[in-house]
Amino acid sequence: MTARAHSGDVLALCGGIGGAKLALGLYRVLEAGRLTLVVNTGDDFEHLGLNISPDLDTVLYTLAGLADPERGWGRAQETWEFIAALRQLDGEAWFQLGDRDLAMHVLRTNWLRSGKTLTEFAAHMARQLGISARILPMTDAAVRTIVDTSEGHLPFQHYFVRRRCEPAMRGIRFEGATEARPAPGLVEFIGSQALRAIVICPSNPYLSIDPIVAVPGIAAALGASAAPVVAVSPIIGGQAVKGPTGKIMAELGIAASTRAIAAHYRGLIDGLVIDEDDADDRVQIGVPVLVTRTLMKDIADRERLARNVVDFADTIALQPSAKVGGGGRR
Ligand code: GDP
Repeated sequence: MTARAHSGDVLALCGGIGGAKLALGLYRVLEAGRLTLVVNTGDDFEHLGLNISPDLDTVLYTLAGLADPERGWGRAQETWEFIAALRQLDGEAWFQLGDRDLAMHVLRTNWLRSGKTLTEFAAHMARQLGISARILPMTDAAVRTIVDTSEGHLPFQHYFVRRRCEPAMRGIRFEGATEARPAPGLVEFIGSQALRAIVICPSNPYLSIDPIVAVPGIAAALGASAAPVVAVSPIIGGQAVKGPTGKIMAELGIAASTRAIAAHYRGLIDGLVIDEDDADDRVQIGVPVLVTRTLMKDIADRERLARNVVDFADTIALQPSAKVGGGGRR
């Protein structure tokens, strides 16, 4: 049976570019209205007076079909007049802001200044862009990822974009997380009987998924949920597909492997999806494993992986040892 033949809601946790690839696959294979995404906001920052939410925007643009297919972030057919003018005037031009993309940041900034929430903004933008999935930030509070590096404590975008992840990472913390509350309705949704599966997209576990799980109440709700939690490994053949995940793991003293991803998510997941290149790891994962192609080069790859992931979650839910009633595994 394929994913489309089932009903039931699917919740996916994701960061930006890597996570949004699978989020798009899920969006395309599930019935309209069945997908809820909870998106990392630890990368958010204030820059040039604007409130910027990089992962939320990547997800919005990706699902709306507006994302730049090469970069993975920002809008397709973008122009860069603003940033060029800013540079000419000696403004802070290290963070690329496209001319079309600026509209999103200006609207969000005004929205938040008027006292409305990021959750409301995401819902408004999803509607405006014709997206039938529910897109939630992990929280409406300011949670900020701070990276402890060889150059000191750096706010996430300063580490990631300004310093291009060059300083060695020693640790990560999520400032403001302990006081944050999950986005309204999220915890109730995770506990709902209508939930069929919870998918952890192949996002960076340390920088994209950990901040979500650090918001008090989310990890407990995932643990108590009756729906199986299934992660997709962002590591293929001992390497990250793209970005600094492999470098970060090395600097944190962790060998980049699907076993390390499984160990990182131990207690949180009921199943792990790994690539065929890593098939030999399957015996050491410790939870049910699906071995399949997880590299998403085109739309067909995204859809196929999405179907496989949801079908895999369905098989876990059917197993006698599954978390029926929830709460038993953690
Ligand atoms: P960011 O917030 O833009 O850095 O994006 P994410 O955190 O959501 O995703 C980054 C991760 O996606 C990296 O660790 C990549 O290895 C992973 N990734 C990117 N493309 C793919 C893919 O096609 N398949 C898999 N399995 N992982 C991918």
